[in-house]
Amino acid sequence: MAPSGDDRWRELNRELEGAMAINDFQRMSQLYFEMALQTYREGRGFAHLLEQRAKAELMHWKRSGDVTQVSVQTADDSCPQCKKLNGARFEIDDALHNMPLPQVDCSHELQTGKPGWCRCLYLPVIKDMPEVAADQPEAKKQGFFTPASAIVFIILLFICGCALCYYVPQLTR
Ligand SMILES: [Zn+2]
Repeated sequence: MAPSGDDRWRELNRELEGAMAINDFQRMSQLYFEMALQTYREGRGFAHLLEQRAKAELMHWKRSGDVTQVSVQTADDSCPQCKKLNGARFEIDDALHNMPLPQVDCSHELQTGKPGWCRCLYLPVIKDMPEVAADQPEAKKQGFFTPASAIVFIILLFICGCALCYYVPQLTR
């Protein structure tokens, strides 16, 4: 193994320890990815590092508090096994338990002749946005037909009627 690779490996491990100490899951995900890439290049086992990367990704979304589900996004040219997962939704806790990513049967060769490297990613499913958008017109509809708004409407009609009674005779004079 090249010494430069060793140095980088030590550096990555040191950074990883730092990220773990402060629960920076996003940084952990990036570091695991880089570590997986390095072991892949060197022809060593990388699957466990890609797994840790996926786990850190899920923990990042879980900790955000707003996200309870994730969906799988595959690469445009992903292998048939990964394509099957495209758009699949998982509760974060279920995904953490079953670990659908990385796809173990992935056949996408990052480097020809090497084992499959799954490029699938988790995307957060934001559920609240459409609900809020759908709720708002409903609230407005209910608000418009309250007794208070009916009274305001009658008063406005009365004012308009008075104005018409006053101005129309003046105009036609
Ligand atoms: Zn694949």
